Amino acid sequence: MHGIHRLAIPTPFAVGRVNCYLIEDDPLTLLDTGPNSGKSLDELEQALAATGPGYRIEDIERIVVSHQHIDHLGLLDILARRSGAEVCALDLLAPLIERFATEADSDDDLAVALMLAHGIPPDVVSALRSVSRAYRAWGASAKVDRRLTDGGTLPFRDRTWEVQHRPGHSPTDTVFWDAERSVLLGGDHLIGHISSNPLISRPVGGRSGDPDPERRPRALETYIASLGLTRELPADVVLPGHGEPVTEHAKLIDERFALHERRARKIGRLIAETPRSAYEIAQALWGNVAVTQAYLTLSEVLGHVDLLLTQGEVREVEEDGVVRFEPMGAGAAAA
Ligand SMILES: [Zn+2]
Repeated sequence: MHGIHRLAIPTPFAVGRVNCYLIEDDPLTLLDTGPNSGKSLDELEQALAATGPGYRIEDIERIVVSHQHIDHLGLLDILARRSGAEVCALDLLAPLIERFATEADSDDDLAVALMLAHGIPPDVVSALRSVSRAYRAWGASAKVDRRLTDGGTLPFRDRTWEVQHRPGHSPTDTVFWDAERSVLLGGDHLIGHISSNPLISRPVGGRSGDPDPERRPRALETYIASLGLTRELPADVVLPGHGEPVTEHAKLIDERFALHERRARKIGRLIAETPRSAYEIAQALWGNVAVTQAYLTLSEVLGHVDLLLTQGEVREVEEDGVVRFEPMGAGAAAA
């Protein structure tokens, strides 16, 4: 459709295959690369060969990256070297790609500090840090040739993409809007079959968008604001980073708003029963998944607690280095 081919490439992650898109235009452009593995590279080569006149990696002239997650950029360096393609990424994303390993270390530092502060046992935290380090092999650093700006454009011979920064799922999420065709290349900003978990990540480029930069990043609030902007686009189709194309994006976004509101209410009820740490809330909601996927579920809980904090329904109390959430007014009665 519109000279856009979806190439679904395997990943070792729970999310399954990642969608890369080949744009048959001038320059021949690949959006996202798949993770850094031989199997992914093999399948990408086969998918390219089955497309159009039968492309090779050497034919790719431009590679665009949608965001900082390794299933989307792991093969970037290998593909760019083999093809000589120009690599394009949002200005905020470029340094994260170029300094991949050190940036990933800093991300892990934040994750460790947050997990300990919110009651996750130290042995679980150190096990997860090892897992994260092992997964890093599926990423790699690469040189970025062209830095894109939010609100700027990326021209082709037969089309133009508007570049739009839509942080939330990650701080660097970038979507590409083809207004003439009403097509949005959405990355992981909006996925049909799963809600895009807003993982808490370090603010990038000193631009967290938060009025209080000392506060932990409020990923879900950022994400909801970004979804609100995307909802207004008159898109016929959103081509996502995982799964099938999304046709009724406004309806899907409304469902996601309702889902987050419901989940916030549920967490509010748990806190009203008794003050709890984010880890205790995650255990009450998801049992053992709160241990095996501790950072994912922590991000999920904190995102929704942020909504309750903003609505003035709960407050944050720190005791012995662990944060607990209690209903507003709970402490006043005791004082
Ligand atoms: Zn992602």
